Amino acid sequence: MANPIVAIVGRPNVGKSTIFNRIVGDRISIVEDTPGVTRDRIYAHSEWIGHEFSVIDTGGIDISDEPFVNQIQDQAEIAIDEADVIVFLVSVKEGITDADEKVARILYKAKKPVILAVNKVDNAELRQEIYDFYSLGFGDPYPISGSHGLGLGDLLDAIVKEFPQNETDEEDQSIRFSLIGRPNVGKSSLVNAILGEDRVIVSDIAGTTRDAIDTKFTTEDGTDFTMVDTAGMRKKGKVYENTERYSVMRAMKAIDNSNVVLVVLNAEEGIREQDKRIAGYAHEAGRGIIIVVNKWDTLKKDNHTLNEFEAGIREQFAYLSYAPIIFVSAVTKQRLSQLPELIARVDQNHRRRVQSSTLNDVLMDAIAINPTPSDNGKRLRVYYGTQVSTEPPTFVIFVNDPDMMHFSYERFLENRIREAFDFSGTPIHLIKRHRK
Ligand code: GDP
Ligand code: GDP
Repeated sequence: MANPIVAIVGRPNVGKSTIFNRIVGDRISIVEDTPGVTRDRIYAHSEWIGHEFSVIDTGGIDISDEPFVNQIQDQAEIAIDEADVIVFLVSVKEGITDADEKVARILYKAKKPVILAVNKVDNAELRQEIYDFYSLGFGDPYPISGSHGLGLGDLLDAIVKEFPQNETDEEDQSIRFSLIGRPNVGKSSLVNAILGEDRVIVSDIAGTTRDAIDTKFTTEDGTDFTMVDTAGMRKKGKVYENTERYSVMRAMKAIDNSNVVLVVLNAEEGIREQDKRIAGYAHEAGRGIIIVVNKWDTLKKDNHTLNEFEAGIREQFAYLSYAPIIFVSAVTKQRLSQLPELIARVDQNHRRRVQSSTLNDVLMDAIAINPTPSDNGKRLRVYYGTQVSTEPPTFVIFVNDPDMMHFSYERFLENRIREAFDFSGTPIHLIKRHRK
């Protein structure tokens, strides 16, 4: 499940975001109804001749307020920490600059493969100039042009060759989950509190696939869990750890490697814009989601507090209407013992597969209650539906005219499906397809 990670590093203006966009191409999909999800990506999926991987544009992790030299140092260190393969990007236009040498000095310390790519080699003449870059000490430079799309195939071949071999766990059946959220919402405290529960047996820290150490544990009833990415929560005391872009990048990486994502909010501070952005990524990625309101101990409560807080969440996270909400405290351990069971249930729903015959009974009943819309004498016809995949559950609905199936009718069908089967905690995707 854990894909290799490629980080692009280099001083500003060498073309990192251009190359990032070239590599991930149109695979960046934006779910239209997710508010707050910005288009400027720093982390995305890609694939090259059968190899799936994720790419980080470290240039996007800007640490404002920091002097320029510290920024590129931080970005290079983040790459060393997070990536399996590092692409060190320079530009043929300016040749080797002081800043390039500074990045190079940091990357010498990396115990990871570093591939040197010389960008802006827009024509054959410029190819002659790439030999200067041998002096950086990273072997053969790969000439590329982000704007012209040249040399990328050779670069990707070189990247893929450096991927770790067969790192994935053999037949790991455990439920993988992660905790994501802004700095200080209490993720690390929750991790420790969950692992400290009496009824939880933590196994020896299993396999250190890369630097991320996943923690495996088993609950009383014998369910195996893997808590993803807890190493990243161990703070190193770096300035960048408290920046928004860094926590977004960490969150995206954790989401990528999970079946179920716990979106952690801080009851004391309420809901912030950044919470919505982070939750939006989990929704977009199609993972199972649980909203965890932590620090519940800090509020003075009356009979309405919980309902009011819940209403606020439902309003602000309208697109997560399927996600259960649990109010906990890492300090008093309130309700923490319920978490593993909830995670297991959401995971089960995320993998749920329903029979076509039952699904079609539900669809036909739905249509009988609320007839399909018609327009200019033409009526939408829903012929049948079938589940085509899981994680998240995805259904294809065959109709006479997909354009006539408006969002509201689609929502109605989704709700009927949700009433008939337990899909709590998982998004479900409906794909409408034309059939005569
Ligand atoms: P970053 O700061 O490293 O992310 O760099 P950007 O991707 O923002 O690119 C910086 C500038 O270089 C932009 O004006 C790009 O259009 C330009 N650029 C990127 N790739 C190429 C290239 O292959 N050739 C040329 N001539 N310009 C490029
Ligand atoms: P992270 O940055 O999300 O990993 O947050 P931490 O786990 O480091 O917690 C940030 C701060 O909040 C620490 O001072 C914790 O002691 C405190 N904290 C975490 N959980 C709770 C909680 O449930 N109740 C209270 N009162 N404080 C908490």
